[in-house]
Amino acid sequence: MTHTPASSAPLIDPFGRAVTYLRVSVTDRCDFRCNYCMSESMTFLPKGDLLSLEELDRVCSAFVTRGVRKLRLTGGEPLVRRGIMTLIRSLSRHLETGALDELTLTTNGSQLAKYAQELADSGIKRINVSLDTLNADKFREITRWGDFNKVMAGIDAAQAAGLKVKLNAVALAGFNEDEIVPMIQFAHGRGMDITFIEVMPLGEIETQRADQYLPLTRVRAMLMDHMTLEESSHSTGGPARYFTARETGGRIGFITPLTHNFCESCNRVRLTCTGTLYMCLGQEDAADLRKPLRESESDGPLLAAIDRAIGLKPKGHDFVIDRSTRKPAVGRHMSLTGG
Ligand code: SAM
Ligand code: SF4
Repeated sequence: MTHTPASSAPLIDPFGRAVTYLRVSVTDRCDFRCNYCMSESMTFLPKGDLLSLEELDRVCSAFVTRGVRKLRLTGGEPLVRRGIMTLIRSLSRHLETGALDELTLTTNGSQLAKYAQELADSGIKRINVSLDTLNADKFREITRWGDFNKVMAGIDAAQAAGLKVKLNAVALAGFNEDEIVPMIQFAHGRGMDITFIEVMPLGEIETQRADQYLPLTRVRAMLMDHMTLEESSHSTGGPARYFTARETGGRIGFITPLTHNFCESCNRVRLTCTGTLYMCLGQEDAADLRKPLRESESDGPLLAAIDRAIGLKPKGHDFVIDRSTRKPAVGRHMSLTGG
């Protein structure tokens, strides 16, 4: 494979934001069907449309050439993509050279018991595990297919392998509102940070978004009755705003795409498993990278396509969830673009 970078200049979008973070949905498939993420009967992309592991590596590496410092593999469930460890081991060469600061992933935890040690051995230091409840029955209800005990075993294995684990929980009205405090206690008791996320109107699902939506302003107000939250300067380069709970010493993050738009500091773009680059989670602006990738052995056309795409990055999303807005902001599910 010949690498002939058109330029190694950083990627700067029309609003002066440097793009230094690439999230890659390595598969749109998943072994769960979380009811806020997917519909029960999802149509997945034909397997033949997927970028191969080598192609995913090439696109990621092209972004690294252009100044991307952080790569997150996500999905769908990244650990159900066949051969995923081959891709991870290969991408970890960029950690060794210092070109990349961090290689990480977001996972539902179902396969972690199997992969945790290998992930740690491949230079991964931190992972995000999604967990919306501590109750095994409710876990089955929200994920439709998931096994709570497997995820717990996955978290155990990850911590035993030395991976730093952060929990991600989507705040869901009438579902986990009463578990926010126990979840924080659980996370902090095990040395994990926990981040709450507002549900976003992405893709058609069976439930009304307005019925699921729990504003984090409400969660924070409720938390004030239980603990003392001190604003923290901690940042992982993402949209979460962190607080430290004085009682536990642990951190709580809030990702608030609805109640507080954070687009002015957006530093990321998202690649799907078929090579479509989305410049914003909440907008349709996209560029096809698969064609330039396949059209030449040299990376020239790919790098030129990345440049053109970054030039189209929109200012931000405009998510709304209310009773009068029945359509999702965009038709694609989170599992396609990568959460
Ligand atoms: N399967 C992996 C997992 O669940 O961690 C990775 C992909 S999943 C799409 C990434 C994150 O997006 C998860 O934390 C999930 O809870 C969150 N998510 C999915 N759909 C969402 C939505 N409509 N609004 C907000 N977060 C969502
Ligand atoms: Fe799968 Fe993650 Fe979506 Fe749940 S949130 S269905 S685990 S992709």
